[in-house]
Amino acid sequence: MTRASVAVIGAGVIGASVAYHLARRGWRDVLLLDRASGPGLGSTGAATGGFRVQFASDANVRLSLLARERLSAFKQETGVDPGLVAAGYLWLARRAQDLEALRAALAVQKRNGFRDAREIDAREAVALNPAMNPDGILGGTFAGSDGFLRPLAILEGYLRAAEELGVTVRWNAEVTGLRRGEGAIEAVRVGADWIHVEAVVNAAGAWAGPVAALAGIDVPVTPLRRQALASGPFGALPETMPMTIWVDDGFHARVRDGRVLALMPTPGDPDDPTSTRVDPAWVASVTRIARERIPVLRDADFEHGTAWAGLYEMSPDGHALLGAAPGCANLILANGSSGHGVMHAPALGLLAAEILTDGRASSMDTAALDPGRFAGGMTERRELL
Ligand SMILES: Cc1cc2nc3c(=O)[nH]c(=O)nc-3n(C[C@H](O)[C@H](O)[C@H](O)COP(=O)(O)OP(=O)(O)OC[C@H]3O[C@@H](n4cnc5c(N)ncnc54)[C@H](O)[C@@H]3O)c2cc1C
Repeated sequence: MTRASVAVIGAGVIGASVAYHLARRGWRDVLLLDRASGPGLGSTGAATGGFRVQFASDANVRLSLLARERLSAFKQETGVDPGLVAAGYLWLARRAQDLEALRAALAVQKRNGFRDAREIDAREAVALNPAMNPDGILGGTFAGSDGFLRPLAILEGYLRAAEELGVTVRWNAEVTGLRRGEGAIEAVRVGADWIHVEAVVNAAGAWAGPVAALAGIDVPVTPLRRQALASGPFGALPETMPMTIWVDDGFHARVRDGRVLALMPTPGDPDDPTSTRVDPAWVASVTRIARERIPVLRDADFEHGTAWAGLYEMSPDGHALLGAAPGCANLILANGSSGHGVMHAPALGLLAAEILTDGRASSMDTAALDPGRFAGGMTERRELL
């Protein structure tokens, strides 16, 4: 292929969703490129599969609501079951400031039309998750319609449906050059070939910065290691246990496929921001905290469990970058989701396709996600986790 209408760089869940939604809107000769040898080898394959509308900003709540709407049609559109389970998200506060933050988030959710979440007290928290340790809990929030999905099923569904609609997907296809003409990108280099394009979508996740740099454009998305620990098989907690999150340190746990997954944010590896090495000290500390917060986990076998790490794609304010790159109208950014990219992919793909087709998004106001927003130096992080 020496010519494409749109080259989408990155065939993770976001690039696949963009390619699918472009093809669905009638785009022909869409090319989806990934340097990996097959699907799921970037961040998407590392994700645990949380889905929630309980966010603290208007933009993230609306992205989740739009994604939820898209996901309700997912099986019908792609033939793949996205594995949605409404097990709920239970947020717990042990400090007054965290309870205040949860209340503020609740108000944001309500004003955006999400009414499933409510404030709860400590007693109700225990009723919702009897396994949790109630020590120090002041209260929290809960939404029963939040829950889980299957990241690799979403990826598979979008890839399959995109190909059925005519998208060409190429693996082992690293983009190593972006050639600019009069400001716009004219061609994309893969191996020795230059592919002429009308537009490019940068959906390279944690690697969006280096990809944009190929066109001399600064995209402030940086990798951040996120580690996860799965126990050995453990039958004492139900699959329907809500995702349970302690806001103060971000520790959270859920059950997937008969194993407990425990996560807790860390600053990442200072020596190598792209490292996905698991830190044994983190495993020891998250094991201890898991057993303290959910006492029945003292019987769970974390010692012979599985730990892995992947990369979050952090933007300066913890929100996605969606729209034309500053100074390059035919380079559309769909990255920087800051750890929420799987759940928001159905919305981001639709919106990116609208932007490319019509010059603006129509399913949602995307002004808060405009890639030009950092020009004024705004970097405030507004999310709970
Ligand atoms: C441990 C962990 C748990 C997570 N849990 C959740 C969760 O519960 N819910 C949620 O919504 N999100 C979660 N996330 C975040 C989620 O994984 C990401 O937000 C999401 O996968 C981003 O999708 P993507 O398509 O942008 O990235 P990726 O899947 O990383 O895709 C980007 C692709 O770009 C390709 N690429 C890079 N450079 C080039 C190049 N030069 N040329 C060609 N291809 C290139 C890469 O090979 C890669 O396949 C989690 C992440 C981690 C690490």
